[in-house]
Amino acid sequence: MPRLILMGPPGSGKGTQGEILADSWQVPKIAPGDIFRSEIKQGTELGLKVKSFSDSGRLVPDEVVIEVIAARLKQPDTQVGWILDGFPRTVAQAEALDVLLAELNQPYDSVINLDVSEQFLIDRLKARAIDQGRADDTEEVIKNRLEEYNAKTRPLLEFYGENVTQVDGTPSMPEVTETIRKFFA
Ligand code: ADP
Repeated sequence: MPRLILMGPPGSGKGTQGEILADSWQVPKIAPGDIFRSEIKQGTELGLKVKSFSDSGRLVPDEVVIEVIAARLKQPDTQVGWILDGFPRTVAQAEALDVLLAELNQPYDSVINLDVSEQFLIDRLKARAIDQGRADDTEEVIKNRLEEYNAKTRPLLEFYGENVTQVDGTPSMPEVTETIRKFFA
């Protein structure tokens, strides 16, 4: 019953790894970014609320994200485990998650951080912009996302301290998947 918090800067490949592992373990991957993109596409009230943040590469306000994730983790399909991809991204979110997981009696098993250099990220994000045409992969927005990461998300590494397992995110996707898998063998 894996309960994994997958962390890493934008472009570190955590979305892809999360997807592969969730498929293989048959657990839901819970990613605020995916939820927001879907809500924006459907034009819901939540979508309208988060669009300007996500389009500009800024983090959506904590209370909005926390509410969405709390509701998601209370759904019955999460009983078999889960992978959190892109949550928490701030210390306030991590604190809220601790409270929530204690309430649900579902402690996390591990926190994995995909470690990659800033230049590697920029190159990968630019390549993805060309491949997938994501609205938040333009140069200005990439800059904002990295700024947000450095200011608000990087401090989480200290928050989780020795509970964080560092995984080098620069090898090929399958190699990174294998490295993560080993921690759950
Ligand atoms: P990436 O990891 O490539 O930056 P995501 O799909 O995880 O992309 O997120 C896309 C956007 O959704 C972010 O730029 C941000 O605006 C919003 N978002 C996602 N997760 C969070 C979060 N935990 N807190 C605040 N905003 C978030």
